[in-house]
Amino acid sequence: MTASETIFALSTAPGRAGVAVLRVSGPMAGEAARALSGEDLPAAREARLRGFRNEAGELIDKGLLLWFPGPNSFTGEDLAEFHVHGGRAVIQGMIDALSHQTGLRPAEAGEFTRRAFDAGKLDLTEVEGLADLINAETDAQRRQAVRQMGGSLSRRIEDWRARVLHVSAHMEAAIDFSDEELPEDLAASVRENVAALVKELDTALAESWRGERLREGLSVAIVGAPNAGKSSLLNAIAGRDAAIVSETAGTTRDVVEVHLDLAGYPVILADTAGLRELPEGGDGIEAEGIRRARARAAEADITLAIFDAAAPASPDAATRDLLTPSSVVVWNKTDLAGTNSAPAIDGYEAIAASALTGQGLDSLLSRLESIAVDQFGLGEAAPAITRARHRTALEEMRLCLARALDAPAPELAAEDLRLAARTLGRITGRVDVEDLLDVIFHDFCIGK
Ligand code: GDP
Repeated sequence: MTASETIFALSTAPGRAGVAVLRVSGPMAGEAARALSGEDLPAAREARLRGFRNEAGELIDKGLLLWFPGPNSFTGEDLAEFHVHGGRAVIQGMIDALSHQTGLRPAEAGEFTRRAFDAGKLDLTEVEGLADLINAETDAQRRQAVRQMGGSLSRRIEDWRARVLHVSAHMEAAIDFSDEELPEDLAASVRENVAALVKELDTALAESWRGERLREGLSVAIVGAPNAGKSSLLNAIAGRDAAIVSETAGTTRDVVEVHLDLAGYPVILADTAGLRELPEGGDGIEAEGIRRARARAAEADITLAIFDAAAPASPDAATRDLLTPSSVVVWNKTDLAGTNSAPAIDGYEAIAASALTGQGLDSLLSRLESIAVDQFGLGEAAPAITRARHRTALEEMRLCLARALDAPAPELAAEDLRLAARTLGRITGRVDVEDLLDVIFHDFCIGK
């Protein structure tokens, strides 16, 4: 993969649409645009109506041609955009015509963005922000992504890095001038600066789960005895157009998931659907079923514990075992019970609901919504750490700083500070990150 190759791809989603956008980036982009349109290139960054023809001279479609000469383009290279009608045959015709151009090849996933990174247009956190923006399903996810793409996290990291470099430069200067201890006042100011940084890092790390969770969604596992109505409740919630974002049935883990958008925050509701199909009386299998439900519940941020209101006298013991302060307790089938009372279970307040009639579902959703607001609502002030990759690097940097504070000799402290700055540099991609790039750009779709 070298930047001298010219790449092309459909940048909009395939399928029927009003408009489809194809992009070409690289040294042959201008030539390709001239060949397809049969005319000179439009002025830089201006749109012109053109007819686009294939190699046989047949008109494929009429549309807009935009010309972004490098380096003032997204990729930093010459870049042409074709806006055509979004029909399958039009798109295929354009792709075929571009494939016939010498020196052009289809782009790999994320390759346009990777070129933008190579050209220094975006740093790694901005690249990740862009990927998150494309994947954002809820408003809060979009807000976080758009800030990160705009460089908010990058500025926070660069600020830390500049401060580490500053301290380290002072120390190294002092080391060069004396072969003994650091002057007392310098040593004190280094200690003070490094200690202040460690404190800020601790705050950032303590908050870091919020940004990661917001990207991934708050996970809610539905637990309950067989036939308590877990699947029915999931389906009833999924049937509410207001809440649902997307539904993924039968994923590899045999879990049915529903993605909800509650007050702009992402919540993933999962039902361990396979469990209820286990045969009765099979002790070993039954135990395995319970073990799996427990494991799933333990992974989840919240358990939604479903009890059968038709049998209120004996709430299921295995489900009661799973209750924690972060459980939401529901009596389902209140229509059968003939009452709306929802007695607390083991001291946990409960909601009365019926998957059949829909009664109580609003209360249930607003309870989940208020939990989501509680969890995420505060975390949007400082630019968030949104990936395990960021968190690991910050933890590593914190170790370096702590070691620098305790270092027995100034030379060793200086070395630790240099390491700390390097570790930060890996987050934004300023230093050796070749090993990370494939993983990061793999998250992208083709055409981005
Ligand atoms: P699961 O094993 O916990 O997933 O339970 P299901 O959702 O499969 O429900 C078990 C049975 O209870 C099915 O026959 C459902 O139709 C029934 N059921 C579930 N919820 C309700 C409800 O709120 N009211 C009534 N009357 N029946 C329900």
